[in-house]
Amino acid sequence: MDLGISGKRALVCAASKGLGRGCAEKLAEAGCTIVMNARGAGALEAAAAEIRDAYGVEVVTVAADVTTEEGRAAVLKAAGEVDILVTNAGGPPPGLWKDWTRDDFIAALDSNMLTPIALMTALVPGMMDRGWGRVVNITSQSVKAPIPILGLSNSARAGLTGYVAGTARQVARHGVTINNLLPGSHATDRRVALDRAIAERQGISVEEATKSVWAEIPAGRYGTAEEFGATCAFLCSQYAGFIVGQNVLLDGGNVNATI
Ligand code: NAP
Repeated sequence: MDLGISGKRALVCAASKGLGRGCAEKLAEAGCTIVMNARGAGALEAAAAEIRDAYGVEVVTVAADVTTEEGRAAVLKAAGEVDILVTNAGGPPPGLWKDWTRDDFIAALDSNMLTPIALMTALVPGMMDRGWGRVVNITSQSVKAPIPILGLSNSARAGLTGYVAGTARQVARHGVTINNLLPGSHATDRRVALDRAIAERQGISVEEATKSVWAEIPAGRYGTAEEFGATCAFLCSQYAGFIVGQNVLLDGGNVNATI
């Protein structure tokens, strides 16, 4: 299927690995020029080279922490006028509700709410002027079904979700759509680290830990970055112009809800 976005310029944040990389790959496959970001230059350059080789598109890299003001300024400078924005960053650490301080909340809000909002504030006006744009924010399944030990994430992502719900409806008339993708458990480095922690806590192997998580997922496995990226590319396609302010859950059926 031709997604109709060949030649569009896409900024994908936090994209050297995992879900962000999946999005960068599938947008490159659709013919987009990619501006990709991560903090570590090594993995970023390696990922960019692989994407250039595989899809023959231009790939620009920006090694910076997108959650800091300086990092964002560098990312926005390299990005220039983009048609597609995919926001992403690492998630806040797990913990216990009674231990979180104001500073912990401010850090989580900065990373997972105020950073995507700052990127949208900078880039959506240009999209509106040009009459076309797509924004996809990578949030989490925890927006629909809270994960108690990830309270910092639950809180910051809920704030972003509320912002998107209102803003998406203000910009849609100008050809710009904003939607959120909610990952459940996907096979990325972050998931491997979580499984390692379960294994250590329970005195079992990492493989056993993984299988115990799979047992809770109706699909019986983790999602892949490829599946996630393809959904992102569809939301960025010409065909997705009527999808506005939605929260699309990719969780293998893990959230037990009718709608
Ligand atoms: P991942 O495999 O650990 O990859 C994270 C990517 O983001 C890496 O390329 C990393 O590169 C980059 N990154 C992290 N922090 C950054 C920052 N401050 N500035 C720029 N780049 C940054 O993680 P993932 O599994 O793809 O997760 C992506 C997001 O989805 C996270 O917010 C996570 O909480 C959320 N999520 C994931 C799952 C899952 O099962 N995988 C489930 C629910 C929610 P550098 O380290 O070099 O910067």
